Amino acid sequence: MDGAADPSAMADGAAAGAAGMSAPPGPGGAPAPGAARTAARLLRGAPLAAAIRAEVAREAEALCAALGSPPALAVVRVGDDPATAVYLQRVLENCRQVGIEGRLVALDADVHPDRVADAVGRLSADERVAGILVGQPLPPTIALDAVLRRLDPAKDIDGIHPLSAGMLALGRDGFVPATAEAAVEILVRSGIELAGRRAVVVGRSNVVGKPAALLLLRRHATVTICHSRTADLAAETRRAEILIVAAGRPGLVGADMVAPGAVVVDVGINVVDGRIVGDVDERAAEVASAITPVPGGVGPLTNAILLTHLVRAACAQAGSRGLPLPSRAALEVPA
Ligand code: NAP
Repeated sequence: MDGAADPSAMADGAAAGAAGMSAPPGPGGAPAPGAARTAARLLRGAPLAAAIRAEVAREAEALCAALGSPPALAVVRVGDDPATAVYLQRVLENCRQVGIEGRLVALDADVHPDRVADAVGRLSADERVAGILVGQPLPPTIALDAVLRRLDPAKDIDGIHPLSAGMLALGRDGFVPATAEAAVEILVRSGIELAGRRAVVVGRSNVVGKPAALLLLRRHATVTICHSRTADLAAETRRAEILIVAAGRPGLVGADMVAPGAVVVDVGINVVDGRIVGDVDERAAEVASAITPVPGGVGPLTNAILLTHLVRAACAQAGSRGLPLPSRAALEVPA
C-alpha cells in the first residue's frame, strides 16, 4: 500500500474519492461498489507536521524576541503510565526543537489529589507559562474535574476544559483537543473535500471522537457518531465517505466494513505483539481511496498542532497584557 502518495498515481475512482470529486454513487449514495481495487493514497502526518513545526519555530522566535523569553509549555505528569510518559516526553522534545520552553511537573501516582490541582493552579497563575498539558489518563484517585477547576481556560491548549468543549460545541473559537483537530486537519491539508459528505466517526470520547465529529460538522459534513452500543457498526461504517476511527480496539474496522473509495483516518494506537497498530485492519488500504498509516498518520500531526495552540495561547496572553505581538498570520489554521 505504499508509494501512492501522488494522487496522479491513483486509479480514477480512487483519485476522485480522495479529492472529493464525484465518483458515481452506489445504493443509498454510498461510494460505488466494485470500484477498482487499488492501493490507497497514504495520508502521512509527518511531512505536514514538519511544515507546521517550521512555522511554529519562526513564531516562537518572534515571540521570544518580542517578550524577552521563549513561550513556555508546562506538562503535568501524574504517575508513570508508560504510554503517557512516552507521549509527554515526545511533546517536550518537540518543544525543544522549535524553541518553546518545555517544563515537566512530575508527581507520583499516590500523590494527594489536592497537590495535582494545586500544581495546575500555580501554573495557571504563572505568567511565564503560556500553556498547560495534563497527561491523561490520570490515576483513578485523581478526579479530572477537580484539576479542571484550577486550569485557566486561556492555557488549556489541549481543549479539555469544559469552556473549551462548550466553545467547540457552539462553533466558536477556542482550543480543540489536538488529536481530534489532527484527525480532521490531515484531511483538510490533504485536499479532501468534507462539505456535504457522509462522515462516520467511531468513538465518542471527549478527547477524540466527539470533538472530531463537531469539527467535521463545522466543515459541513453530515456526521454519524458510533460507539460501543451502536447496533450495527458495519452498516454504519460502510455508508461512510469519510471514516474516522478512534476506538482503541485493534482491527475493529475490517476491510469489509469500508466502502470502496472511502477516505479513512485511523486514530487508534494499540500495541499488538510488540507492534503499533491502529483500529482499522491494514487490508482496508485495498478498498479505501486514501488512508492514514499507523504509525505515521495522525500521531505526528497531533504533536505539531499542540505546539500551534501553545503559540496561539502565548500570543493571546501577551496581547491581553498589552505586550507587543509578532504576526501570527503564518500559523492560522483554517476554521
Ligand atoms: P476511549 O476514551 O477509550 O474511547 C473509545 C471510544 O470507542 C468510546 O467512545 C467507545 O464507546 C468506543 N468503542 C470502544 N469499543 C467499540 C466498539 N467495539 N464498537 C464501537 N465503538 C467502540 O479512547 P480515546 O481516548 O478516544 O482514544 C481512542 C484511540 O485513539 C486509542 O487507540 C488511543 O490510543 C488513540 N489516540 C491516538 C492519539 C494520536 O495522537 N494518534 C491521541 C489520543 C488517543 P463507548 O463510549 O460506548 O464506551
